Amino acid sequence: MDLKEKKIRVYELYEKYERLVQPYKSKAVCEKGCASCCIDVGSVGATTLEGLIITEYLQGWDRQALKEINRGLRKNRNDKLSQVFARCAFLDQEQSCRIYAVRPFSCRRLYSVRKCDGQGAVVHRQAVGLGQKIEKELQKLDPDGCSGHLSLILHLLEKNGSRQGYLRENWRTEKFKDIIERYELVVHK
Ligand code: SF4
Repeated sequence: MDLKEKKIRVYELYEKYERLVQPYKSKAVCEKGCASCCIDVGSVGATTLEGLIITEYLQGWDRQALKEINRGLRKNRNDKLSQVFARCAFLDQEQSCRIYAVRPFSCRRLYSVRKCDGQGAVVHRQAVGLGQKIEKELQKLDPDGCSGHLSLILHLLEKNGSRQGYLRENWRTEKFKDIIERYELVVHK
C-alpha cells in the first residue's frame, strides 16, 4: 500500500470507529464550545502518519497563523515533557479545533456521557475497547513510524530529513533514535 492509499485508509478507520461506537456515542453530552478534553486531558496523541496529514493541512496557512501555532506547539511540547496538562495549540479562542477535519484519532475517540466540568470524561468501557482496536490498526498502517503526543510527533516530523523521508517512504526510526527515546515515543515495530 502506498502513502496515498494509507491516508485514505486512515479516514476509513476513523469512519469505522464512528460506526462501531455509534450506539454508545449517541448518548454523549458533548457540545461545541466545551473543549474540556482539549484543555484538561492534555494527552492528545497521534501516529506519524496522522502527523503527516496534519502538516500537509497546515501548508496552506498564512505565516502569522503558523507562527501562533508553532508557539503553542512549543509550549505543548515543554508542558508535555514536564508532565503538565495543557491547552492544545490547535484550540482557538472560541474553543473550536482549528484542524477539526484532520484531527487525530485520539481526539475522535473522546466523548463523555456526563459533563466533564474539569473532572474528566465518562466513556463506555465498550467504546474504550473499540478505540484500542482502531488505534492498533492505525499503528499497523504506519509500521515504520511511531506514536506519541501530537506536539512531539509534529516536532519529530520537522527534524532534518524526517518528513521528506516519510514522503519518500524510506523513513527509518533508527535515524531518529535519540529524539524518539527522549520523547518516549512508541515505535510501531
Ligand atoms: S487537535 Fe483539536 S480536537 Fe484534538 S485536542 Fe487539539 S483542539 Fe482538541
